[in-house]
Amino acid sequence: MIDSFVSQFDEDLRGTFQTVVGLALDDIQWEQASYRVKQSGIGLCRASDVADVAYLASRGATFDDCRALDGRHVWDDGAPRGDGPVDVIGEWLFGCINRVNTYIPDQSQFIFGERPTRTLKQGLLMELVNKKRGDAMITSAGIWDKARLEAASAPHSGAWLDAPPNRALDMQVSNAEVQYGIGRRLGVELCEECPCPFCLGVMDKYAAHCEACMAGGDKTVNHHKVRDDLYIHSKRAHTAPRLEACGVSRLLGLEAGGDTQERPADAPLCRAQDIITGMGVTASRVALDVGIICPQAFGHLGAASVEPLGAAEEYARTKCARADIARRCQEASVIFQPMIFESLGGVSSEADRIIKCLNKAVAVNSDTSEEVVATRFWQRIGIDILRGNCGSFYRRPQY
Ligand SMILES: [Zn+2]
Repeated sequence: MIDSFVSQFDEDLRGTFQTVVGLALDDIQWEQASYRVKQSGIGLCRASDVADVAYLASRGATFDDCRALDGRHVWDDGAPRGDGPVDVIGEWLFGCINRVNTYIPDQSQFIFGERPTRTLKQGLLMELVNKKRGDAMITSAGIWDKARLEAASAPHSGAWLDAPPNRALDMQVSNAEVQYGIGRRLGVELCEECPCPFCLGVMDKYAAHCEACMAGGDKTVNHHKVRDDLYIHSKRAHTAPRLEACGVSRLLGLEAGGDTQERPADAPLCRAQDIITGMGVTASRVALDVGIICPQAFGHLGAASVEPLGAAEEYARTKCARADIARRCQEASVIFQPMIFESLGGVSSEADRIIKCLNKAVAVNSDTSEEVVATRFWQRIGIDILRGNCGSFYRRPQY
C-alpha cells in the first residue's frame, strides 16, 4: 500500500546524499551507506529497510491494547481474507511477516499462525536484519573490499561522522574531507589510477595508497598529529607524559646501541599506576608507541580481511617483537605499549583499553562524564586521521 511512497522516499534520500557528498554510488555502495555507522555504513535509514519491521513491531506493541478495546482482535497472520493480494491488505500481518522472514537469519524466522512470544521491539528486529545484510555483503566481497569493510566496522572508525561541526572545537570538516572520508568508507573510486609522485608506486583508484605511502612525509605528519592528541589526553589524565623527549632512551635504559635510534616510544607515561596495559598489569612507567597503518596496504591486507582490526592487532605484535623491544623495556621496568590506529579510524584492543583508562582519569580530573570524554576524544582522533589522509590524497596528482 505504501510501496510507491517508500520507493520515492528512498530515491530522494539517495539523490540528496549523492549531491551532498558529490559522489555517485553504485547499488552496493548505497546498500553499505544504509548500514549503521558501527556496521561500516553511514547510518542512513532507508524506508524500504525499516517499513515492514516497524509495522510488525507496532502491531506487537499495540496488540494487548487493541484486544482490550475489541475482544475480537486477532493476530491475523493466517490465510488472507477476501480476494485481495495479501501484501496490500493493510491490517494483515501475513505479507509483512513473510517479507521480514526473508530479511532475518533462518534461525530467527517467525512461524505463522501464532503470536510470537518473543519481544517484537523494532530495534532488536533491525539488529537481526542488519546482521544478515552485513554478513551477506562481507561474504560476497573480495579480499580488498573485505579489508575495507572490516576496518570500517571497527569500533570508533566512524567517530568523525558523529562529530558536531563546531569551529571552536576544531571539529568542522571541509567538503573535500567529507567526500574523501565517505568515499574511502564506501569504496568509491576517488581518482584515476596513476603513479605516486613520491614513491613511484601505484596510486590506486580508491585512494588507499596515500594512506599507506611511506614517502613524501605525510605519514610522519599524520603520526605526529595522533601522537600529540594522545599526549594532550595523557596530560589531562595527569599521568605526566613526556613527548618523545631526548630522555626517552634514558628512561627506557636503552641509550646504547644503534637500534635505539628508532625512538621506541612517543609518549612515555611516567606516572601511570592506574593505566592497565595490554599485559593486564599496571606499571609506574608505560611507553606508548603510536603507529598508523592502512588495512588495505599490501602487507596488512591478509590480516585485515579476516576480522575487524586484524591488521592493527597483527602490527601491534610485530612492534613488540621488533628488536626485542618489549622484553628490553620490561627489563628496564617500563612497559612497552604499541598504540596502533588504522587509517579508517579503528584502534588495536590493547590501545583501546589504555585509552579507556585515560578517559576515566580525565573524567575524574575534569568533573565530566566518562562517556563525554570518550566521545570527544574519539571524534578528535577520527577527524585528525581523516584530515591527515585527505591531505595526503590531495598532495598526490588527481586525474
Ligand atoms: Zn606513494
